[in-house]
Amino acid sequence: QSGEEQTQDYLFKIVLIGDSAVGKSNLLARFARDEFYPNSKSTIGVEFQTQKMEINGKEVKAQIWDTAGQERFRAVTSAYYRGAVGALLVYDISRRQTFDSIGRWLNELQTHSDMNVVTILVGNKSDLKDAREVTTAEGKSLAEAQGLFFIETSALDSSNVTAAFQTVVREIFNILS
Ligand code: GDP
Ligand code: MG
Repeated sequence: QSGEEQTQDYLFKIVLIGDSAVGKSNLLARFARDEFYPNSKSTIGVEFQTQKMEINGKEVKAQIWDTAGQERFRAVTSAYYRGAVGALLVYDISRRQTFDSIGRWLNELQTHSDMNVVTILVGNKSDLKDAREVTTAEGKSLAEAQGLFFIETSALDSSNVTAAFQTVVREIFNILS
């Protein structure tokens, strides 16, 4: 089988989920294109974006799915989740309500996808220090209780954005290889 190894292609479907306006589309824009939209509406959402990454010397393609704003109506369809092996479960550290929704999103994810989809809990907008409503400790503690990875990010100032995606992709790679 050694000959096959060089040409093996890894393609991982990863979904972005979480309440409206937590920064899902901007996390993807920052990660895939190094762009940020200060006043973005849901129109910037693409169906998915494929990003090449290198993990342990192997080329891996992350196919990252973004919603087109349908999460506002709690109407993310099962097609969105189908085949996903990773998920970024995003809330906004400056809006507690978005953190309170995490349980529901986790339920939906577990209903629609594989039980062992690699999931990271992402507290976005870490740049909004003065408006913080959810502490880092609370995020960490929820992640631990649910067996999720955890990170705080800012799509605005770029902090930890690459790390968030890489954590998921690396773990999937480790599981599958
Ligand atoms: P989505 O509905 O979850 O896809 O959220 P968007 O990516 O459309 O972002 C919603 C709003 O939050 C937009 O006005 C963004 O500019 C803003 N936003 C997104 N990420 C950040 C961030 O890390 N920090 C700050 N301060 N604003 C952000
Ligand atoms: Mg969006």
